[in-house]
Amino acid sequence: MSLISHMNTPSGSEFGLIDWIRRHAPQANTPGGHVVTGIGDDCAALRFTPEREVVVTTDMLMEGRHFRGLDGDLLALVGYKALGVNLSDIAAMAAIPRSATVAVALPRRRGEFGSAEIGRRIHQGLTTMAERFDVALVGGDTNAWDGPLVVSVTLLGEATERGLVRRAGARAGDAIFVTGRLGGSNSEPNQRHLSPFPRIREALTLHAAFDLHAMIDISDGLAADLGHILEESGGLGAVIEADRIPIHEDAREMSRADGRSPLEHALHDGEDFELCLTVAPEAADQLRGWDWRGSNEINEIGVITREPGLRMRFRDGRIEALEPRGFDHFRD
Ligand code: ADP
Ligand code: MG
Repeated sequence: MSLISHMNTPSGSEFGLIDWIRRHAPQANTPGGHVVTGIGDDCAALRFTPEREVVVTTDMLMEGRHFRGLDGDLLALVGYKALGVNLSDIAAMAAIPRSATVAVALPRRRGEFGSAEIGRRIHQGLTTMAERFDVALVGGDTNAWDGPLVVSVTLLGEATERGLVRRAGARAGDAIFVTGRLGGSNSEPNQRHLSPFPRIREALTLHAAFDLHAMIDISDGLAADLGHILEESGGLGAVIEADRIPIHEDAREMSRADGRSPLEHALHDGEDFELCLTVAPEAADQLRGWDWRGSNEINEIGVITREPGLRMRFRDGRIEALEPRGFDHFRD
């Protein structure tokens, strides 16, 4: 565990708890064991046979926390997002998604819009996402109770022949890139966070063409998620350029409503489900001029440094420390 992680993760926070679980996790990883990467990355990486690693990830959506209300259109989006956020974690490892299981806790209701109908609508949304990314639905668990709706998806995937990309591979001097535009994913009426577009294709294309040192998907916010790369890469630092952060139109929209700057939104809102990655300077030269055939864009935002801590450089040359205050479920 790095010094940075101690400074930034008070023991009572969500990440403090995850750190604690990580230190107390039962480890089947005796020498020659199957756990290649356990807690601490976007997916766990397991090796059951010598050839390719298997990746697995789990994410849960809860009514009242990740979405509100249960009207019909929203339910399909909840199913769509529940699989989408897991796909985003598979993209972050540059792996190929394969099969999912889905556990639902349905609110107990009778009548036309009862538990079964809620379950069907979620399944419809989930199926749309599954077909889009060629994922098989292979199991799950169905429950009903007097509580709110909860959907939990577990997704399995496998590495390509080039192996996986982890959070832990950044090196001092690496250039930092992000896909897409960031911020305001919760802005009304778009609610962009409900219809993520997992960057599987982008991740696999980049992984095939470049030696990606480290990668993460942006779920907690660029500052927090880049912070995870720095921490997992042995306590490195980064300087990012304020005027190079790609700001989403939704962030500007939110800024007009709440007075926080669009840049603040881009750095801290989260649920963008874009990718943040690092490459060696030579690869960065190629990536900058690369013919990015996807509809998505990719921008260089800064550099990895040996000096720990995340800092931001403004246009006038001023450099300020950037707190990686992403979304914390125990606080926000
Ligand atoms: P992500 O945002 O990519 O989904 P998280 O921040 O949710 O990642 O989790 C960070 C790491 O902690 C991941 O490796 C995840 O699998 C692990 N993790 C989170 N909660 C638990 C838990 N209750 N028990 C074991 N591992 C957990
Ligand atoms: Mg992730």
